[in-house]
Amino acid sequence: MGTIPSETIEQIAAANDIVEIIGSYFPLKRAGANFKALCPFHQEKTPSFTVSPSRQTFHCFGCGAGGSVFRFVMDYEHTDFPSALRKLAARAGITVVEKFRAGEVGNEERERELRQRLLKLHAEAAQWFHENLTKREVGEEARKYLRSRGITVEIAKRWQLGYAPDEWDGFGSWARGRGYELRDLIASGLVKMKDESESSPDQSKSGTGLQRSYDRFRERIMFPIHNDVGEVIAFSGRLLKDEEGAAKYVNSPETPLFRKGSVLFGLDKSKRALIEVNCAIVCEGQLDLISLFESGITNVVAPQGTAFTESQARILKRFVNEVVLCFDADAAGTKAAERSLDALLENDLIVRVAEMPVGEDPDSLIRREGKQAFERRIAGARDFFDYWIERETANVDLASFGAKIQLARRLAETVSRVRDPVMRGEVMSKVSARLGVAAQDFEALVSRQRRAETFSPRDHSPKSDATGAIDPAPRHDISMLCLLALRDETAREFLRQQNWRETLAHVPDGEILGRILESDLRPGDAASLNAFMVRLSTADERLVSSWLLQKIPANAGAMVEKWWLGIRQAVLRRQLSVATNQIKLPKLSTGDVINLQKQILDLQEQLHELSQPAGAADN
Ligand SMILES: [Zn+2]
Repeated sequence: MGTIPSETIEQIAAANDIVEIIGSYFPLKRAGANFKALCPFHQEKTPSFTVSPSRQTFHCFGCGAGGSVFRFVMDYEHTDFPSALRKLAARAGITVVEKFRAGEVGNEERERELRQRLLKLHAEAAQWFHENLTKREVGEEARKYLRSRGITVEIAKRWQLGYAPDEWDGFGSWARGRGYELRDLIASGLVKMKDESESSPDQSKSGTGLQRSYDRFRERIMFPIHNDVGEVIAFSGRLLKDEEGAAKYVNSPETPLFRKGSVLFGLDKSKRALIEVNCAIVCEGQLDLISLFESGITNVVAPQGTAFTESQARILKRFVNEVVLCFDADAAGTKAAERSLDALLENDLIVRVAEMPVGEDPDSLIRREGKQAFERRIAGARDFFDYWIERETANVDLASFGAKIQLARRLAETVSRVRDPVMRGEVMSKVSARLGVAAQDFEALVSRQRRAETFSPRDHSPKSDATGAIDPAPRHDISMLCLLALRDETAREFLRQQNWRETLAHVPDGEILGRILESDLRPGDAASLNAFMVRLSTADERLVSSWLLQKIPANAGAMVEKWWLGIRQAVLRRQLSVATNQIKLPKLSTGDVINLQKQILDLQEQLHELSQPAGAADN
């Protein structure tokens, strides 16, 4: 990836007022010069979450979270910096152009251009499919079908549902007519090349007879699949008429935009609700999801395909701790639920199962019973292990010890996937009680399983630092100098004229001050402060956001000199003590001794100079 120029970041920061941005997520109350609210990043009863309109930053005095407007969007939306940046840029109508270093302009640039062409193609394709459905005669059947499933025109619009006509080259010829090149159409996955192994497209319908490409999606209801920021990156097409031998759902293949198994359908719309409810309702089909969402149950996602992948489970864990699987009661649904289980458990998600009555799916159920009845079903969803033990024990004679042990082994294998020890302990006691096996016997089975497995390295990866402990702040004098270098033009200028690089190299927690001094931030300019913070680690950004909210000492000019002097003296004293210890070492050569003596004298002299009244000492 190229780098985004500081000016662009500043421009985006300047165009997005942090009070307005945060205020669009939850209400802020004015408190003097600042705004306050209950912190969204930790549990609290009195507000310590502070937003500064003049600094354009936020900081929580309870948990230490804080930073720029970008940091807020990243932490609150659980997204990365580029996505937060693009989101705020889009909001302000600013185009983000990445800068590439000389060597990178080649492949990277080409790939970026391809991705951009594909994004544009997907956006236009979604619109074309949508108009087929809503405006053209060819969409009549599809309209009828959707109406019968309770999808109104407004709903179809909101989800930009579409229709791919029953033609071999309907989409392809439209797209070529729009100027898209065949190789981009192939790269998008929307068009395929004729291949001997594929069922042969009907040549007579393709017009030229020489046509070697054809549409992937034909006679299908089209569901656009969005990325985190709401751009269309792929499609899922559902057969309009069930046809023997044809897959009910067809998804886009892997493309430069779309990685299968790492996108959850509906996530771009349901994110907020997921975080609020801390629980995700998982359904199988896109239509199920849309029905639930439109009925007001908005904490919903659907995996693309039937079972959860590892990376989908990991994405979900960023938003929720609990998952309710809403799969069909039929055998296929149960299988899907079981296949999802490993990925979910390995990410320490609590899994519950809401069984749909035979012959029903979430879509039919919510339309028949309404929102409240459905919510009751979700609330009453059983713990996956309860549901599963019951199913497994239904066909096992628990009076037979052999059968019981067989079952216990099978269950132990699944229980061993639960990584969180507390959760695992709970599940173990539940399962052993249910089976009528001694708790320690079952535990032994589980730990044998765990030992037998190799664990992935992410077991040891640190948890997200969004809620992590506060790093200890630097010493008081460094903190004060940072504060002044961030906020006071004169103090900043003074420090920049000192030999700060050399001095700070000897100060253990002086790195952050160095970063503040070397940056080209402008103290009075909130946007430039935001752009500066973007380059910091989360921990440093928290520190900076707290300094930005502190009071500036009244006599900043005098204080900055005093603190800087203190730091220089401390550095010299430390160097002096190192040298005086070294000179006491046995077996020093005469040259070493002379050098050290010189060094000591020099350091003593410097220290003496520094302790002279102001004016007598220079830097
Ligand atoms: Zn907090």
